[in-house]
Amino acid sequence: MSSAPKVASRRAFFSGLRGLNADTGGTQTPMVIRPPWAWQFDESCTACGDCIPACPENIIAIGKGGLPEIDFGKGECTFCDACADACSEPVFDRSVTAPWHLDVSVSSKCFAENGVYCRSCGDVCPESAIHIIPQLGGRARVLIDDDLCTGCGACFSACPVDAISIKPATEIAHG
Ligand code: SF4
Ligand code: SF4
Ligand code: SF4
Repeated sequence: MSSAPKVASRRAFFSGLRGLNADTGGTQTPMVIRPPWAWQFDESCTACGDCIPACPENIIAIGKGGLPEIDFGKGECTFCDACADACSEPVFDRSVTAPWHLDVSVSSKCFAENGVYCRSCGDVCPESAIHIIPQLGGRARVLIDDDLCTGCGACFSACPVDAISIKPATEIAHG
């Protein structure tokens, strides 16, 4: 397995702590997430589907457009490179440091934010990127450190109330 990459180091630590985002609604957005390092996806993917069976985590599926996309509802990305290795087209570019630019956020449905004890996302995060900070009244704030988060998606299916949203970032800065 490759060492865990970083999504992007585009924010300082404190500005990179992302908290509750009521706008997310707590469901994965319709915006499509392509496999990691597929930086030339739009230009080069032929929809051959070779990356789909190659993924040991089975998180790549054919999307509505007939093209492969990531489904974090099935599991997390381990950044194993198997999808890139299976692809015969110039879709993947491992020379780019970041595998993708994703925004991970937490909605107002979060148990901890509402005073119900829960640490599920923090417990599964392999990068310790989720900070759950107790507040007065039994509530807690759930903050995601962009500088540590790899966008692996492990937190997505761990959340019992679908409070975590992962979507392509609007700010693109290849790292
Ligand atoms: S890097 Fe590995 S785990 Fe991640 S999508 Fe590709 S094949 Fe699946
Ligand atoms: S578990 Fe969630 S917060 Fe942690 S690195 Fe993966 S995507 Fe980021
Ligand atoms: S797993 Fe979900 S409900 Fe629990 S603390 Fe994390 S975001 Fe909140």
